[in-house]
Amino acid sequence: MNVVETSGLGKRYGRTWALRECALAIPAGHVTALVGPNGAGKTTLLNLAVGLAEPSAGAVTVLGGVPAGSPAALDGIAFVAQDAPVYKNLSAGDMLHVTGNLNHRFDRAYAQDRLAELGIPLKQKAGRMSGGQQAQLALTLALARRPRLLVLDEPVAMLDPIARHDFMATVLAAAADGVSVLLSSHVLAELERVADYLILLSKGRVQVAGQVEDLLAAHRMLSGPAGEADRYADRPVVHVRRGEAQAHLLVRAGAQNPVPDGWEAHPVGLEELVLAYLREPGAAALPGPARGRGATMTEVAR
Ligand code: ATP
Repeated sequence: MNVVETSGLGKRYGRTWALRECALAIPAGHVTALVGPNGAGKTTLLNLAVGLAEPSAGAVTVLGGVPAGSPAALDGIAFVAQDAPVYKNLSAGDMLHVTGNLNHRFDRAYAQDRLAELGIPLKQKAGRMSGGQQAQLALTLALARRPRLLVLDEPVAMLDPIARHDFMATVLAAAADGVSVLLSSHVLAELERVADYLILLSKGRVQVAGQVEDLLAAHRMLSGPAGEADRYADRPVVHVRRGEAQAHLLVRAGAQNPVPDGWEAHPVGLEELVLAYLREPGAAALPGPARGRGATMTEVAR
């Protein structure tokens, strides 16, 4: 089952396409990282998926084919928007009460236990909580709705490292309980730890999408003499980093591309892979060595 599926999905604001020709199929059971530079269309895609925005083109369904924004979709999805939205004048207990009354499947016992574990008193007003506590409150309320899909828009941007770690631990615990997660973030190091599916948006289009494991297996870092880098012009190169003596090429690897003599191949990490694609917004990748096409050395050099 796909928790989010889009075809030809587009969203236009005036003359600007915030998202264009977006075709995605995110399978259930993953923690999916949505990354991309500022203005790439991440929030737009998430808003379309949770039914907060209407497509200008194409379609988006959730939870195995349910139209986004329909009652069945709203019932199964919890969304935490940017900046941990909590009502500053309400206490944690008030927010729990209000959210519980608005959602028939709300698990009050879970929410109360979780807040107690976090040391957040029910009487404390949200406006008096730290940024980390506000984020945890918003996440607790979202999870108490017992969603099948949890959508988080830049949840850890404002949090210090410990609050960020604690927040993501809660997300991972939910994922281990079977909740699919889709989260946008600029904190690549954090994503490396938690995500097993990646979507990279660039200028409103999907640049990379696939299981992290497959994407990493489909790429290598080649290091060798800088003067020889141009010899591999036919190899699908995503990004070239040139030093005085050595060049480092992030390439799409395949059995048909053996490591050249005098060069070393290293596996790549998620952060390295994402950075390479962010630096080369024209390079496209799909998991698997034979699919899609990376830029060649000549194209990258242009
Ligand atoms: P960031 O990382 O900065 O949050 P993002 O990847 O989430 O960016 P979006 O917020 O989806 O990007 O914006 C994508 C594009 O659509 C941008 O060019 C933005 O200016 C534009 N845009 C988004 N919302 C609106 C709106 N309500 N009205 C007009 N333009 C908008």
